[in-house]
Amino acid sequence: MKRITHWIDGRPWAGVAERTGKVFDPATGAQTKEVVFATESEVNAAVTSAASAFPRWKTTALSKRASAMFRFRELLIEHLEEIAALVTSEHGKVKADARAEVERGLEVVEFACGITQLLKGEFTEHVSSGVNVHSLRQPLGVVAGITPFNFPSMVPLWMFPLAIACGNTFVLKPSEKDPSAALYLAELATGAGIPSGVLNVVNGDAQVVETLLAHPAIAAVSFVGSTSVARHVYETAACHGKRVQALGGAKNHMVVLPDADMGEAAEAAVSAGFGSAGERCMAVSVVVAVGGCGDLLIDRIRERVSRLVVGPGMAEASEMGPLVTAEHRARVVSYLEIGSSEGAKIAIDGRDHPISGDPSGFWLGPCLLDDVSPGMRVYDDEIFGPVLSVVRVDTLDEALELIAGNRYGNGAAIFTRDGGAAQRFETEVKAGMVGINVSIPVPVANYSFGGWDSSLFGDLYVYGGDGVRFYTRGKAVTSRWREPYRGNLSLTFPSGEPTQPVV
Ligand code: NAD
Repeated sequence: MKRITHWIDGRPWAGVAERTGKVFDPATGAQTKEVVFATESEVNAAVTSAASAFPRWKTTALSKRASAMFRFRELLIEHLEEIAALVTSEHGKVKADARAEVERGLEVVEFACGITQLLKGEFTEHVSSGVNVHSLRQPLGVVAGITPFNFPSMVPLWMFPLAIACGNTFVLKPSEKDPSAALYLAELATGAGIPSGVLNVVNGDAQVVETLLAHPAIAAVSFVGSTSVARHVYETAACHGKRVQALGGAKNHMVVLPDADMGEAAEAAVSAGFGSAGERCMAVSVVVAVGGCGDLLIDRIRERVSRLVVGPGMAEASEMGPLVTAEHRARVVSYLEIGSSEGAKIAIDGRDHPISGDPSGFWLGPCLLDDVSPGMRVYDDEIFGPVLSVVRVDTLDEALELIAGNRYGNGAAIFTRDGGAAQRFETEVKAGMVGINVSIPVPVANYSFGGWDSSLFGDLYVYGGDGVRFYTRGKAVTSRWREPYRGNLSLTFPSGEPTQPVV
């Protein structure tokens, strides 16, 4: 069986295999690989390698760092199919979706190629007579990245290219469920000329995360995953004096007003609800049907779902693949029973959907629950599978109140032809990312990605301008050059004009 190890100091690291995890092909249900969990001494080796590489890397010319990013970009494009195939083989998502996640990650690499512009400081002359001020931003040191299973290539690419371009060195801990894509990215980054030690990958589970969170040589932690773990990572790393951004789970609402094009809204709900089997933090999991448009919308969703091809991600015809593990599938399926016992109606039961694949795969077809309301677990919990809930309300006011009452605040979308309603939604909705007639509003790389409330612990989003701010710290320099120094000592607090010496 293929064994997945680590990438430390610019090369594969065998690993002592004291503890291991299983990696499956979700389309067949078979274990295909074994992932070796790093021991404490291996985590230390990765952090030591990153810490040793930092002094040289942080002073490497910006143009050289940018060139490495350009080469990395070229290699990502050249090997896009292989990365996508690795993602599909361990995560299960369909090939087109796997390609798209690499492309969205590539955008961040392209953003990082502009690091020479991004790190420009500010300069003000004459803040006082002969006194100038300038600001600069400097890297932090060793940064750790901890990533979830659902975007095995894109989420690591949200983090390490920008962190490295800013002059930091990096230790990545990908999800133990589908770790191969991250290791391959590290191999490509090394091939692009990123020096040994600048990017390391250690595999493992929560135990490895705990070692990273407490490690004295790690300056900052970027985390993406579920809310309970995000909160724990935020609190623990902060207690150890680290800078932290921890992105958590979501329950994204898509509001449909009666004036919307129902065909378009239904297609958008199917795409955003069932794409990647609903295992996206920006998946739509609640459709809010306003003013009696629910029946028509459900009819349209039902019609599209009846034609949806669920099958192995490697088959080009498949539109939706399996869930990531048998345990996760069982958890998602349990919500159908929970929902029905709470009074929701199973309008579409994905357990009956035809599957064109190995029956041992972790399959579940698209599911639709109608008459869902707050207080039901199917509404309150993040299910993270192909289960879409419909909540019916009478007005836009009620839709906005519903969203405001939800504990998450990642994304929210509205479908309407009414510009006034859309503008009001944009202003008032409680979410970090908003879509107007766009169901998955993941910002492009020159903006930043993040949610509100239980969807983000910390104050800076990932990538874009916030990413640069997170991976650097500021310095403001006040300088005066005057010859000769005449010893004008004054104990007065510096203000606009220095006190003139009495000669
Ligand atoms: P997860 O929280 O189980 O795992 C994420 C990472 O944390 C993994 O690397 C895992 O090994 C580690 N981990 C797991 N349990 C831990 C623990 N108790 N202590 C320390 N570390 C631990 O998440 P997942 O199931 O891999 O991914 C799905 C979740 O991620 C969903 O909740 C989804 O909404 C969220 N997500 C959020 C975003 C976002 O940008 N907000 C993006 C993608 C995924």
